[in-house]
Amino acid sequence: MSLKEYKAKRRFNKTPEPAGAPNSSTVGNLLVGQKHAASRLHYDFRLELDGTLKSWAVPKGPSLDPGVKALAVQVEDHPLDYADFEGVIAKGEYGGGTVMVWDQGSWQPEGEHPSRDFAKGKLKFQLHGEKLRGAWSLVRMGGKRNEDGTNWLLIKSDDMYARPNAKRDFLAHYSRSVLSGRTLNEISADSDPISARGASSDPGRSGTHRRTTA
Ligand code: MN
Repeated sequence: MSLKEYKAKRRFNKTPEPAGAPNSSTVGNLLVGQKHAASRLHYDFRLELDGTLKSWAVPKGPSLDPGVKALAVQVEDHPLDYADFEGVIAKGEYGGGTVMVWDQGSWQPEGEHPSRDFAKGKLKFQLHGEKLRGAWSLVRMGGKRNEDGTNWLLIKSDDMYARPNAKRDFLAHYSRSVLSGRTLNEISADSDPISARGASSDPGRSGTHRRTTA
């Protein structure tokens, strides 16, 4: 487990994100895609490996076109219970903005030693998500411009799930949560603590409209 960075970045009394429960098992193969309207909209791509969710932020989202290499910036490992996290992180907190569970399922590494392949920076796998399917690879970029090693490329392999020359139209088409069916705007509206509770519960704000019931 390597959740140190994840925990250090967050204040769990201020964010609805999971604090990271201890895991009973480290043999799962969860796939998670989240759509995250932070300061910049992006997609988060997560694969369960060695008891955590290895995580990448994909600024433009994945592409079904094998000719497109989507930049995927590796971020801190996330806890497994992040797979079901959908809601609103308050403005000013780390990653502030609305999070949708955009895709969920499992992944299957093509190699026998995924941890070793991950460390080497080349991972090939099959995705069994509701939206992302078929063969994909993640390749760490080389060269001086990637000195900290966080820049990877997420690439669709050519198979029956590939859509050559496709734009990222499917991202707009698949705009709803696989957990709740909600759009980002609906998640934001549902999760707004002020509109959900109503201002009338605050005597300071409803003072002029207070009813004087006997
Ligand atoms: Mn994110």
